[in-house]
Amino acid sequence: MTHSAPASIAARRVFRGGTFVPATVHIVDGLVAAITDIDPDADILLPDDAVLLPGLVDSHVHLDEPGRTEWEGFATGTAAAAAGGVTTLLDMPLNSVPVTTTPEALAAKRAAAQGKLAVDVGYWGGAVPENLGRLRELSDAGVVGFKCFLSPSGIDEFGHLDPDQLLAALTELATFDGLLIVHAEDPAHLHADGALGVHYRDFLASRPPVSERDAIRRVIDAARRTGARAHIVHVSDGEALDDVRAAKAEGVRLTIETCPHYLTLDAETVPDGAAAFKCCPPIRDRANQDLLWQGVVDGTVDAIVSDHSPATPELKGEPDFGLAWGGISGLQTGLAAVHTEARARGIRLEQILPLMTTGPARIGGLGVRGTITVGEPAHLAVFRPDATWTVDAAALEYRNPLSPWHGATLTGVVEQTYLAGAAVYRRGEGILARSGRELIAAGDEAPREERA
Ligand code: ZN
Repeated sequence: MTHSAPASIAARRVFRGGTFVPATVHIVDGLVAAITDIDPDADILLPDDAVLLPGLVDSHVHLDEPGRTEWEGFATGTAAAAAGGVTTLLDMPLNSVPVTTTPEALAAKRAAAQGKLAVDVGYWGGAVPENLGRLRELSDAGVVGFKCFLSPSGIDEFGHLDPDQLLAALTELATFDGLLIVHAEDPAHLHADGALGVHYRDFLASRPPVSERDAIRRVIDAARRTGARAHIVHVSDGEALDDVRAAKAEGVRLTIETCPHYLTLDAETVPDGAAAFKCCPPIRDRANQDLLWQGVVDGTVDAIVSDHSPATPELKGEPDFGLAWGGISGLQTGLAAVHTEARARGIRLEQILPLMTTGPARIGGLGVRGTITVGEPAHLAVFRPDATWTVDAAALEYRNPLSPWHGATLTGVVEQTYLAGAAVYRRGEGILARSGRELIAAGDEAPREERA
């Protein structure tokens, strides 16, 4: 019996229904066929220090292929996902070339993905000034929703929406219940482009919290007026959460995400000239981080996702925070980083797992992904929550060896990841298969798997 495709996996702690229970997961043809009491004679009986998780879902990843494969790419990016326990990811419409703003660009991206996927991948489309009025055709081509910026994206061919265009996009999306996910920084409060020097505090001051707050308020107002669904990506400003709470209480169709870097890194300890820590909006101070954690615990935050956005060592090696590329590599370390910080704050693994599984799955319209459910693909991860490891950026699966957690000791080790019942990653061995599928949305239905 080979254990790369076991027929049953048993554990004393299987994450189901928001809690850990003893169980055996039976697998037939890649699907969960049954879930029964713990069976010591299962093909695999996990040791007591390991838990069996549903494969994580990361709805915010930049794989940058085609066109900027030297930044990441489908092969290395999905390998990093598998090694981080992520079995489903949604790829952003930038920074690939072309950006995913037309059906033709989506087709080019899908062609580039063929044969490279270690995990399942779906695609966001982009809403830019040039394609407003034609979003439906890109939706029909299979994207799960639309990303837009309210401030310059850093990529010339992916323009941002002004307030009128934001309203127009949401009005259009409301006609087919599409989703707009928004990079919410108000350019009126952002420092002009250019050199800022090597001190992190100067970069932080160039993107003040008010820029996020004003932009988030604008999105809330537009979602309220149009009745459309809106989602704020990578919320960094903890003070903005009160507006989000009020909007949700009022019934505005709004969800938000934050990221491992905002929850585990802080402005006080970013070294001078360390562009690995540069992202927009920026990592803020510890008091702000406490507010974000409050939002995680009280349910205001719907998802914790990586916003994995690498670039080449040349672009990230620039010590001037104004000139370096903004974007953090965090796809492989997300669960361990968040679990480490959560544990230090007395927050249980069961409390953060929904935000890394069902939360992002719901945002992407992915049905019951992120759960272990009979009849669904057996996407699973074996995690040792008490084991520790030290991050070595060069040993991660990323194309470029850069991580703001380099050198950090994290608690929680992903031992093995299963995709449709077959092992795609095993610690010490690396990536074992490229059996990932594409998730292509069809009309009003949840995205379906198509062979990549
Ligand atoms: Zn992003």
